[in-house]
Amino acid sequence: MTTTPSEGSAVTFDPEEVHAKYLAERDRRLIPGRAEIRDLAHDERVAGYRADPFTPRTERDAITDDPDVVIVGGGIAGLLAGVHLRKAGIERIRIVDHAGGVGGTWYWNRYPGVMCDVESYQYLPLLEELDYLPSRRYAFGEEIRLHLQSIADRFDLVSDALFHTGVSRSVWHDDTGRWTVHTDRGDELSCRYYVLAVGILNLMKLPAIPGMDAFAGKAFHTARWDYEYTGGATGEPLTELGDKTVALIGTGASGLQALPPLAEAAQHVYVFQRTPSAIGVRGNRPTDPSFAETLTPGWQKARMDNFQSIMLGRPVEADLTDDGWTRHYAAVQNPPRIKGASLREFMLRAEELDYRIMEEHRARIDELVTDPGVAAILKPYYRYLCKRPCFHDEYYDAFNRANVTLVDCPTGIEKITEHGLIAAGRQYEVDCIVYSTGFEAEVTPLQRRAGHEIVGRDGLTLAQKWADGAASLFGMMSRGFPNMFVMPAPGQQSVVTVNYTQLAVFGAEFIGGMVALLEKQGITVFDVSAAAEADWIQQIVDTYVDPSAVMSACTPSRLNNEGDPGGIKARDTNWGRGFGDFFGYRDLLENWLAAGDFDGLETA
Ligand code: NDP
Repeated sequence: MTTTPSEGSAVTFDPEEVHAKYLAERDRRLIPGRAEIRDLAHDERVAGYRADPFTPRTERDAITDDPDVVIVGGGIAGLLAGVHLRKAGIERIRIVDHAGGVGGTWYWNRYPGVMCDVESYQYLPLLEELDYLPSRRYAFGEEIRLHLQSIADRFDLVSDALFHTGVSRSVWHDDTGRWTVHTDRGDELSCRYYVLAVGILNLMKLPAIPGMDAFAGKAFHTARWDYEYTGGATGEPLTELGDKTVALIGTGASGLQALPPLAEAAQHVYVFQRTPSAIGVRGNRPTDPSFAETLTPGWQKARMDNFQSIMLGRPVEADLTDDGWTRHYAAVQNPPRIKGASLREFMLRAEELDYRIMEEHRARIDELVTDPGVAAILKPYYRYLCKRPCFHDEYYDAFNRANVTLVDCPTGIEKITEHGLIAAGRQYEVDCIVYSTGFEAEVTPLQRRAGHEIVGRDGLTLAQKWADGAASLFGMMSRGFPNMFVMPAPGQQSVVTVNYTQLAVFGAEFIGGMVALLEKQGITVFDVSAAAEADWIQQIVDTYVDPSAVMSACTPSRLNNEGDPGGIKARDTNWGRGFGDFFGYRDLLENWLAAGDFDGLETA
């Protein structure tokens, strides 16, 4: 059962006043050019921001090889695909990744304080199989990275992996029934199956701020934390910052986690806030030793399903997670339906519930931040789902320190100079700039996230084929790109789960199951039929509800295409309304696989 603790609390809600306040706050931020970013992939002036600070790059000879499978990406998705392909009996698997090791997001994001917001017992995959229980309710990044490393070791996914290697081009050959994968190290890999597990948060976003190249101090993105400069290591004090003034740009999930350790260590931290996040209670705690005794086989899948049921508004016997996601996010996502109420009444009740939850968040700031002026600036004024909600218990307290200054800059940083930043008309001299400015995410098409040309039948590239939006069967295969799998991802014709691991586990199980069946039936090449693909696209488009009406009232964010929700293509959405129908999708694909006739595929 989900509860909405905010119900019944004494708040007054005047819809018109609330609308006006939310729209005024939105308008302060809706400025031309707010989404402009540097092209980190191609602009050599910012190439240094991409460098791997964690693993030295070693030279090696180019490799020519013919593995069974090439997986692009060694993060959670790629590793799970590898695990399930191993279970399907595939022997030769080569993972290719830009990083110096496995882990994907958790390889790169090692900034101080990095932690996963999804309960660790659900987020860390294959816990039962590896007989592992995370040490805390919400795991720090390093524990997640080490767990992913254990999975890679257990399923022998590292010895053949090519790290610090980027795929530059992949080409399908009808004559051999194989893909040729070329890399930036001159490798040439010929494979039967090609799996794209390129990540969702793999492209760092660096805002285009005038003058930034002239900055003479140190500057890096949170996804490339420079411990050589700051001192310390993940989870340890930053020993070299005692005489340094640091600018932290960005107050999303990453920035707010990085602030408390930065504040502990630096002489001074200026926090540049464009939009405040809604930050709920975290409630982290060590794993109770008795927890393991309560678990029975199949517990992890059941726990994930319990969480996802709540997120989709399905009835459950008990809320096993019981955190801000299930209490607030799920409640707003699935507002209570009142029998006999008109649509207008329903919308008003939903808005009132949202307002109460946001008021709780705002009240928490008053409780935790001693300076009322600072507290006022930290308060988020928009509907709860306009931005990705955050959770933290130490962030607000950092603003009570004398060495932390909050800079309110709703229009962003105006300029960067040789020695500092100009924002809200004032100059701030700093030694170091930490860009916690996020990633190209939800609306970034697969072909851009993949970062290489993918050439299918008749020389058609994926970028050409998907120019007007995704085109797939199940969000995982695309006609004209035989024997290619794409791990499911948001806005890519599958579904979205807050716990991404749950979708990755299912996607990997599906790919493994399908490959096992193809091998069993002696099928060497599959492609999607034109009719099946057209039908899947139609299902996506038919259930798409244009979010413009609700989302255009939102503060600009990644979730509404930076204030242009109409710019999202219907095809680049999910199966089922909104974030999609996870359980319906899973049933459909499981039944399709169980039928074993590959309905909708052309096979040879
Ligand atoms: P976000 O995109 O959430 O935040 C980026 C921040 O940078 C925002 O505060 C943004 O302001 C600010 N910003 C961008 N450009 C400028 C500019 N020109 N001037 C000033 N400020 C600017 O990135 P995060 O890395 O924090 O999070 C990305 C995603 O990563 C999350 O949504 C989540 O999915 C995942 N994540 C999950 C974590 C977890 O589980 N704990 C931890 C970290 C990340 P504005 O809000 O106005 O756009």
